[in-house]
Amino acid sequence: MPPDDAGLARGVWTVVVAAGSGTRFGGPKQFAMVGARRVLDWSLDTARAASDGVVVVLPPDRAAAEGGVAGGSTRSESVRRGLRHVPDDAEIICVHDAARPFASLHLFRAVVDAVRGGADAAVPALPVADTIKQVDGEGRVVATPDRASLVAVQTPQAFRADVLRRAHAGSPEGTDDAALVEASGGTVRTVPGERINRKLTEPDDLEWARVAAGTEI
Ligand code: C5P
Repeated sequence: MPPDDAGLARGVWTVVVAAGSGTRFGGPKQFAMVGARRVLDWSLDTARAASDGVVVVLPPDRAAAEGGVAGGSTRSESVRRGLRHVPDDAEIICVHDAARPFASLHLFRAVVDAVRGGADAAVPALPVADTIKQVDGEGRVVATPDRASLVAVQTPQAFRADVLRRAHAGSPEGTDDAALVEASGGTVRTVPGERINRKLTEPDDLEWARVAAGTEI
């Protein structure tokens, strides 16, 4: 990171989770190329600029070759395996999905600043455009939550280090880390998310990412 930015990253460590198998994508999307870099490298480069140190969690068969930590069978387990490699003196820990290559440095700083400002955790959030319905196992609608009270959240998510470690004690499962903090009684704040910070999930997301990166190749 540039010297004048060093203070902003002090005490911040980031766990980048990239150990998914890409079931919906049809393969491990984190190794696909977007322009001159892999999806994973886009995510790592920004995480490194925002942090004192980065732990990357990878599929077990790639971990050694790439200098990373072997992931687990769920996202939460992969985060826990990464957390074990974060130094004890880290003050703030960010968790970022490798599958979101376009999260900006500004977004990392916004969630970190919110935690420095007193929150246990901070997550980027965007309003939802669609009406969201809750359905049962047969697809019958059981509820329509008020859209005004809903947001879609992204990563990077930032946490007080002790809060995140405590939230993961007992190996709970969740689709993000903030949910585990909520469940353990912590306060989670939102900061404005970024539309470009899409998670690459389906194959056509990769086509979108290549266009978004200005490299239609
Ligand atoms: O599956 P999902 O879209 O929630 O994955 C979000 C991120 O978590 C991805 O970057 C993926 O590589 C990572 N992941 C992981 N270990 C798993 C499952 C997902 O590191 N077992």
